[in-house]
Amino acid sequence: MYWKMKEFDIAYEKAELVLKEMNYKKDRMIPTATIIDTVEKMLKVDVRFALYDFTKLSSAMPGKKINLDDYGAAMAVDNNRVNILLNENETPEMQRFSLVHELGHLMTQKEVVTQPYRVSTHIDMDITSIPKEILENPKYKFLVNEQVANIFALLVLMPYEMLVDAMKKQDSFEDVAKFFGVNECALDSRLQLKDAEKVN
Ligand SMILES: [Zn+2]
Repeated sequence: MYWKMKEFDIAYEKAELVLKEMNYKKDRMIPTATIIDTVEKMLKVDVRFALYDFTKLSSAMPGKKINLDDYGAAMAVDNNRVNILLNENETPEMQRFSLVHELGHLMTQKEVVTQPYRVSTHIDMDITSIPKEILENPKYKFLVNEQVANIFALLVLMPYEMLVDAMKKQDSFEDVAKFFGVNECALDSRLQLKDAEKVN
């Protein structure tokens, strides 16, 4: 089950700002490029991304004994230049989500800070996959940031107005997910975000 932490508020705030700023048609999937352009303009940064073989990333970080093959994205910032690597072995839906997740990190951090490549450890369209006890444990604060980026991505990829409309027009849950270029569990997560909004 999804529950809302106060720390997640920034994801809602920034997603709303991006959607307000973005020029998009409500009857079709928002092009990834449109989302990138909007964030570039808002943060005055230049975003570049490339598909990358993450097995190479694993061998490029010999000091770290973690296997990066299954991670979705890594991001580096050099002044105003943002470089994002996306795992070439993932589906186009997951790559799109991962990219917007990374933009979520940029939008929700206090300022764009120069940093070397950093891997996102929990890119997930399923908003319930990180247990509550872990998220509330100060030891795992970085996971809160991951969750914030996931929430940002869900909100930006599926504006609620568009979602309601698509659910009326499309025949199945699967078709709605396809319409937004996400998987069905992302759609489910998006609806849970809406429910949490009502409760709080
Ligand atoms: Zn991340």
